[in-house]
Amino acid sequence: MDFSDTRIAFLRKSDQELKQSAFLFGMFNNPTLNRFGTKATELAFKMHLPIDSALRSTIFPLFCGGETIQECMQTVTDLERFGVITNLDFAVEAKQNEVEFDATAKELLTILDYSARYKSLQFTSIKITGIARFALLERPTFSKDEELEWQRVISRLDSICAKAVDSDVCLFIDAEESWIQDRIDELVFMMMKKYNRDRPIIYGTWQMYRHDRLAHLEQSIQMAKNEGFWLGVKQVRGAYLEKENERAHLMGYPTPMQKTREDTSKDYDQGIALCLAHPESVAFCAATHNENSVTRALDIARNMKAEPHLSFAQLYGMGDHITFNLAHAGHKVCKYVPYGPVREVIPYLIRRAEENSSIAGQVSRELTLLQREIKRRKES
Ligand SMILES: Cc1cc2nc3c(=O)[nH]c(=O)nc-3n(C[C@H](O)[C@H](O)[C@H](O)COP(=O)(O)OP(=O)(O)OC[C@H]3O[C@@H](n4cnc5c(N)ncnc54)[C@H](O)[C@@H]3O)c2cc1C
Repeated sequence: MDFSDTRIAFLRKSDQELKQSAFLFGMFNNPTLNRFGTKATELAFKMHLPIDSALRSTIFPLFCGGETIQECMQTVTDLERFGVITNLDFAVEAKQNEVEFDATAKELLTILDYSARYKSLQFTSIKITGIARFALLERPTFSKDEELEWQRVISRLDSICAKAVDSDVCLFIDAEESWIQDRIDELVFMMMKKYNRDRPIIYGTWQMYRHDRLAHLEQSIQMAKNEGFWLGVKQVRGAYLEKENERAHLMGYPTPMQKTREDTSKDYDQGIALCLAHPESVAFCAATHNENSVTRALDIARNMKAEPHLSFAQLYGMGDHITFNLAHAGHKVCKYVPYGPVREVIPYLIRRAEENSSIAGQVSRELTLLQREIKRRKES
């Protein structure tokens, strides 16, 4: 499949929007500006300085659909026009107390209410740290009080999963830092075993930048087959590489990360082949902005006898050349549309800015594509 058609990729964007996006991606691409910008934003956030309006008129609309579900609905309709499914993603992270966890769970239930009414809202996602205390998830064993707290986490997630089943919406549970991932996986498997008996509704996330995940995926597929439930797999490369390596170094344990980017991609592509080889028990979503991986999934699916449960996902503001060209060709593809109060989505925005910084002095993928489309429009 050809992803080079920037006309289809950026049909949604006016000339003005295109230039604005290119300007911002140009800023991220400058390592000094990027480092200064992210540090200044972090600092201003910690000092409670009023940076909301500056973010609201720059980076926020590039990567987020709005501050509320209602504000995202225009984007949802726009994406639907191009055959793209929306995954509304309440992007607030690292909540601290029970009141906030309950509020996040309530928001998720509201998303599912909307999803039952709008046919292009077929997926939604959840970060467990939005409904559970990070420090609790770090614990290998629980005290009596912590056991009660854990039961409340299960109960919050269970009510969300039950509603996802009622609304016929797939729920993607994000993967987070490796040292809390065992607890997240415990919840993922608990919910899959309960709710994925007839069809895949609950998906876990496998981060292939971890060198142990391919083997874990293989064991999970075996478990799903043995115990008779659908394994929902969202596969990513992983978003916390530096943090993981830094922590391992500081605490003196071997890093769980792959040695090189190529090793990550190798396992990512093997993960695709492994999942698609089991169409009777695995539903697979390739969540990536990497064209080679998407092409690989399409090639394997094309040569299969059985129609696999296969979908693709990209983040709002990124990978449009993949999303819109896939949708144009009739494939199942969704955009994660994050939303939330500007202040609360700052960690998410910072991750996106860092992800789009220049790698080895090269112009980032997004900026290259935007520049190509600006040039094409000028010349046509
Ligand atoms: C829809 C969607 C949902 C997502 N959900 C999650 C989630 O739940 N949890 C999560 O952690 N991330 C998530 N991500 C982010 C994702 O993990 C990546 O950070 C991002 O998408 C870039 O990965 P890519 O496949 O596009 O790869 P590319 O851009 O081709 O490669 C970049 C990735 O390769 C890996 N990498 C780079 N250098 C090295 C190195 N030296 N050694 C080893 N590995 C390296 C890193 O993972 C890096 O992000 C999601 C992404 C998308 C598109």
